[in-house]
Amino acid sequence: MNKDVGFFNFSINKILTKEQSILDQARIRLLYYGLLLSIVAVSVLLINIYLEHQYILGFSTSILLLSIIILFKYLTFRPRWGIISHILLVLATVVNLSTVFIALQTVNIITAQIIFLIIVFSFYMLGQLCGLFYSLVNLIPVLIFLVLTYNDNYFIGLKPKIVDGSTIIIVTFANFILLIFIHNHFYAAFIKSMKQLRATAEERGNLNIEFEKVIEKAEKSSQAKSEFLSTMSHEIRTPLNAVIGMSNLLMMGNPRPDQKENLDILKFSANNLLAIVNDVLDFNKIESGKVVFENIKFNLVELMQSISGGQILKAEEKGLIFKLEIDDQLKSKIVFGDPTRLTQIIFNLISNAIKFTHTGNVWVKVTCVEDRHNTVTVDFSVKDTGIGIEKENLDAIFEPFTQESITTTRQYGGTGLGLAIVKRLLELQGLQMSVYSKPGEGSEFSFLVEFPVSTETVVEQAEKQPWVGGIETMGNIRVLIAEDNLVNVMLMKKLFSKWGITPTIAENGERAIEMVQYGNFDIILMDLQMPVLNGFDAAIEIRKMRDPRKANIPIIALTASALFDIKERVFSSGMNDYVSKPFKPDELREKMQNLVETIG
Ligand code: ADP
Repeated sequence: MNKDVGFFNFSINKILTKEQSILDQARIRLLYYGLLLSIVAVSVLLINIYLEHQYILGFSTSILLLSIIILFKYLTFRPRWGIISHILLVLATVVNLSTVFIALQTVNIITAQIIFLIIVFSFYMLGQLCGLFYSLVNLIPVLIFLVLTYNDNYFIGLKPKIVDGSTIIIVTFANFILLIFIHNHFYAAFIKSMKQLRATAEERGNLNIEFEKVIEKAEKSSQAKSEFLSTMSHEIRTPLNAVIGMSNLLMMGNPRPDQKENLDILKFSANNLLAIVNDVLDFNKIESGKVVFENIKFNLVELMQSISGGQILKAEEKGLIFKLEIDDQLKSKIVFGDPTRLTQIIFNLISNAIKFTHTGNVWVKVTCVEDRHNTVTVDFSVKDTGIGIEKENLDAIFEPFTQESITTTRQYGGTGLGLAIVKRLLELQGLQMSVYSKPGEGSEFSFLVEFPVSTETVVEQAEKQPWVGGIETMGNIRVLIAEDNLVNVMLMKKLFSKWGITPTIAENGERAIEMVQYGNFDIILMDLQMPVLNGFDAAIEIRKMRDPRKANIPIIALTASALFDIKERVFSSGMNDYVSKPFKPDELREKMQNLVETIG
């Protein structure tokens, strides 16, 4: 009940509250409009009565009007519909019975109407029990009156010629009983179904709350798992970076053949471990739905050549013939898509093909299936003459951490994550992988991609000259390295000393900014995760410097935990390029040289 309603309130909206059930609100509305209508009707009647000079009747009608007004006021002040309904029903019963027994001493259509009203009103306003009570209190005396005032016999002839008084009594009686029965019955059913509905809604509400709690818990634990994995990966990658870097350095120091062999094993194992860490991390990212696909322009042919470039050597080392066939139709095309993810997919498939093939060929085919005006549909297929896969295992190999059999694990190693990543990456783009394989004969993995085509076409470029600068040319470069990890700093210093460079070291982003302000550098290598100020923010600050030469210093990001998503952040914070730790010395040297030549 709304306790704030003032005594002078007349509005229905103020007495209706959300706490009242829909049924109760309907009851209050009925009383409100019913009483209002009665006030108008009785007022008109009163005027009429006075105009006809019936003052005694006028007096009693005035009392009636006053009572209705009092009830109406009471309702708009405190909407106690139960009490008001009882008062109205008692009044109606008194009026009904006194009309029949005293005033008219007969039962006519008005009596029937009043009883009808009382039945309907009592049931809907006060429920089943009160409904029955008021209905019978009004009906039974009237029926007794009817019977007593009719002095004929009560037997109905089978075929009465005329409808006599007894028939009317019985029919009326039957009608009223039926009316009470129907209301009684349906009212009970109506209330029951309302209660059921409320109970279901409450149940559903409780279930929803539980669901939300469970989802929240699952989200939290999945987030904790992701965070744990990325922290772990960073922690593993940092020492791995040192291991790979050190083996690179040792290799550059002309080791003896037996030492070189050991170093090769060391480097191979470290790289393997890194690939596993990367796979786990990437799968984790895909599963947690954090993958965003790029839509940038790239040259499909060039991309395929560069993916295959590294793999050809591996295949040849195993004595396999590696063939890359690209449809001529695609050669002049620049398409839109995500080259990084496409590389990851194809790279995984080619690696598997080489890994699971002992003799024969590995084919990579890129075919243009459909060339429309502004899109091309391309079929990528990687086929081998390797060990093949049993038919019943064709689904299982796409499950995470699943390999065809225990023998595969023992013989070939691996984590069983490669194809799971490939499949999910395709599915996230609405694409599907097909596999055709026969044990002992080979396998073919293929998928179709539709690329939007750029209006730009490939312009034949002059062959890019590989960088051939020696120690002397690199020696003039002034390098600032922002890096907090001491092992990495030592590693970089050793590497740079081989190129005749003595780099300046800043142990965090803030120091790096200071050093750029007061010193002169040609290039900055910026670690991204550093204490005090991270690499992104440091780069942003450097780009804001007043001196245009300093603001435009080439910056290469050194990323450790990053796989693919970091790229965008690197560029948006104003850095020019990035290398993933553990980086390949040649790759870093080439990137530095290019940037210093073009910008510096
Ligand atoms: P991994 O290569 O780490 O074992 P993948 O998810 O890439 O994991 O592959 C899962 C399994 O599918 C492999 O272990 C292997 O049994 C099977 N498989 C994948 N590619 C080939 C292939 N080209 N030929 C034969 N078997 C393959």
